[in-house]
Amino acid sequence: MPHTGKFSVTVTKDYLVFASAHFITFKGHRCEGLHGHNYRVSVTLEGSLDEEVWFVFDFVALKHIMRRLCDEIDHKVLLPLENPKLTLGEQGDSITVAYDNRPRYVFPKRDCALLPLPNTTVEMLAEYLTGLLQAELAKEGANGVTAIEMEVEENFGQSATYRLTL
Ligand SMILES: [Zn+2]
Repeated sequence: MPHTGKFSVTVTKDYLVFASAHFITFKGHRCEGLHGHNYRVSVTLEGSLDEEVWFVFDFVALKHIMRRLCDEIDHKVLLPLENPKLTLGEQGDSITVAYDNRPRYVFPKRDCALLPLPNTTVEMLAEYLTGLLQAELAKEGANGVTAIEMEVEENFGQSATYRLTL
């Protein structure tokens, strides 16, 4: 039987949740206050079938990888390292955050996830998780995967999607 159509596998949101605090900066001089979301993630891998097992990628392995990536930022304050409006500092076991050069927050270091992002929007979180997943897939030798699509939802009905063609 020829398999001429395209296949994809999806692991969806109910399993992939992280509850984290964040705030984002806007254009000009607006900065949100600290708040939290129960973020939910959905990921789709497109690719060719592995014709030994007849799947694109093992669901169990994908769920384990994604669960681990979500756990790394679960119950953390998500802080962007590359936001020019924020200055992050380290004082002993604390992370200090200044906005517009004015001190704003001090967090215990162990409760922070310092992310290489310009802002902790769902767009940037989706791209970030895609990059981590891409590295994990390479380690697993998942050569048949041709695209990753990552959706991160911060509220019901409010999400961003990033798609990377490999
Ligand atoms: Zn928010």
